[in-house]
Amino acid sequence: MTSSLATPPALLVGEGLPQFEAISPDQVTRHIPELLADLEAELDRLEAGLEARGAATEAGGDALTWQEVMDPLQRLGERLRWSWGVVSHLNGVCNSPELREAHASQQAAVVRFGNRAGQSRVIHRALRQLERQGGLDGAQQRILAAELRDMELRGVGLEGEAQEAFNATSQELAALSTQFGNQLLDATNGWSLTLRTQEEVEGLPASLLEQLAQAARQAGMEEATAEGGPWLMGLDMPRYVPFLQYSRRRDLREQVYKAHVGRASGGEASNEPVLRRILELRRLQAERLGYASWAEVSLAAKMAQSEQEVERLLEELRAAALPGARAEIEELRATAARHGAAEAADLQPWDVSHWAEVRRLEAFELDSEALRPWFPLPQVLEGLFGLCNRLFGIRIVAADGEAPVWHPDVRFFRVEDGTSGAPLAGFYLDPYSRPGSKRGGAWMDECLVRSRRPDGSLVLPVAYLICNQSPPVGDTPSLMTFQEVETLFHEFGHGLQHMLTTVERPQASGINNVEWDAVELPSQFMENWCYDRATLMGMARHWQSGEPLPEEQYARLLAARTFMAGAATLRQVHFALTDLRLHSQWTPECGLSPEDLRRQIAEDTTVLAPIPEDAFLCSFGHIFAGGYAAGYYSYKWAEVLSADAFSAFEEVGLENEEAIRATGRRFRDTVLSLGGSRHPREVFEAFRGREPSSEALIRHSGLVPA
Ligand SMILES: [Zn+2]
Repeated sequence: MTSSLATPPALLVGEGLPQFEAISPDQVTRHIPELLADLEAELDRLEAGLEARGAATEAGGDALTWQEVMDPLQRLGERLRWSWGVVSHLNGVCNSPELREAHASQQAAVVRFGNRAGQSRVIHRALRQLERQGGLDGAQQRILAAELRDMELRGVGLEGEAQEAFNATSQELAALSTQFGNQLLDATNGWSLTLRTQEEVEGLPASLLEQLAQAARQAGMEEATAEGGPWLMGLDMPRYVPFLQYSRRRDLREQVYKAHVGRASGGEASNEPVLRRILELRRLQAERLGYASWAEVSLAAKMAQSEQEVERLLEELRAAALPGARAEIEELRATAARHGAAEAADLQPWDVSHWAEVRRLEAFELDSEALRPWFPLPQVLEGLFGLCNRLFGIRIVAADGEAPVWHPDVRFFRVEDGTSGAPLAGFYLDPYSRPGSKRGGAWMDECLVRSRRPDGSLVLPVAYLICNQSPPVGDTPSLMTFQEVETLFHEFGHGLQHMLTTVERPQASGINNVEWDAVELPSQFMENWCYDRATLMGMARHWQSGEPLPEEQYARLLAARTFMAGAATLRQVHFALTDLRLHSQWTPECGLSPEDLRRQIAEDTTVLAPIPEDAFLCSFGHIFAGGYAAGYYSYKWAEVLSADAFSAFEEVGLENEEAIRATGRRFRDTVLSLGGSRHPREVFEAFRGREPSSEALIRHSGLVPA
């Protein structure tokens, strides 16, 4: 289909750095269908070939080889990943109505192709054949096992009616998740409260008042202003969170809180029957696949090996966090008492955020805006690159102009080995927010994946690193909040795992084939360095005066890190345990409603028990409308790994330069190199010399182990 004589269009080159500016929405609607048709035809050919080979192999012919099955499959997937990856990338960073429409018009077809390949019986049979024959190296075994597992979890191993039933239930589950999400969204958007007097908005910061006035104007109250109202309160996070923190009107906090925790829990559009049905059906699907519960299905693809192992970890964290959380609530009561507030005698859930904010300001006076002048982007990059040189022996060199970019603000860097100077990787950095055309948040994505071409030459990995901080204004560089610095380090950690991999099989190189609950290890690991004295003080200098960050500010940053950590940990444990047990222990016959089970768990995972109106499960979108079912624990799991990895550096002494470098090299040679080629437990143990322990996370959170 693609002529070898003509130059292919920019979107279908399929290798090398993309020519971003040459790719238009029109190309997307024209060339993606062309690509998919081409890939479909190739998949047909591959299947036909394998079918013939399979019969011959079974009749005693030559064994099937990796080159016959896995390599062509990988090449098919890579062509799609390259082209569709560019489209998705541009959709995130250079959005326009035309591009969004072009992207949306092709998405279903792209998903359909993935499903077809992932449910092909011929390919499944060929993979099983490869597995039976043996003779594969460790990385190949893991790649093959993951591929087989994913296909089997899609029901490829089921026959006839069983498969039809499985597929029908999969569709019903997808529809139920959508319904859950929609009803939650409707309930969130369907509630509002108009505030009209100054007393009703007492304590609210100017930025929130502006938001509330804007919401009022959008709802038709055209006269609304930030100063004079009216102000429209709602249940979305950007309004809800600061309202509970800052509102001095306890009665209004109560009203807003009760509306929030009771979302989608009553009436016709209640999520209660929906989530019950989801739990029943997931259990049924698990049984059809030969598992005892949905939790087992989830854990089949994770680093954690069993529910017991997850339970054990959560119990360690719970036991450590509970006394701390109790003490924190006591401290808030005492704060309220000092201010002569009535709630001191009877602190309620809607009081917690408010008094925590009062306490935080009293204790730390930490104003995140005020620290910006100490963190200009160029200096932060210098600090980050210097740290990477020190720890991992790599040199990061600005290479602007050496690669095509999608916006003039985007920079390109090369990564070299610090000793040999050998090129290792490259990355794009797109640091600034561009409202209207760039998605919010920060992320790392793959541009090119390390791999060996058929001719033996090497493809070096290239990463996209995207942040959303304020752009420079005039002569003032981009000045970052400490949180933005942490975010940059976090994403760079993902980038390091992508770029420093030594694995040459792309299915397991970098972040590929890394179990979901282990993938945040390098990213959260890098965040720890933001609190390291040498790293932080090395980069935090006032952009005009060159003065270092005052010592007391550093002390406040450290103290703020553990503020209310007991309550925060306990909250995550409560969510994680609820999620896990709903997907392992709960059955329609168990005599408890899902909410009953959650309240049982709350007995020792909350300090202030859920109030009667609290129907949190009806808004637990992560597990009922998102991809976190029986996986919510992953947040804490990965934090344990990253804190424990960082503690290897603490153990040798953060001032002991030689030992720090040696430990850093070991981290590079294990966690950052091995990608998904080995089980994350083995990789961790290769670095740490032992199994992961929760001790470091508990210590870093300021909690004393029980
Ligand atoms: Zn991350």
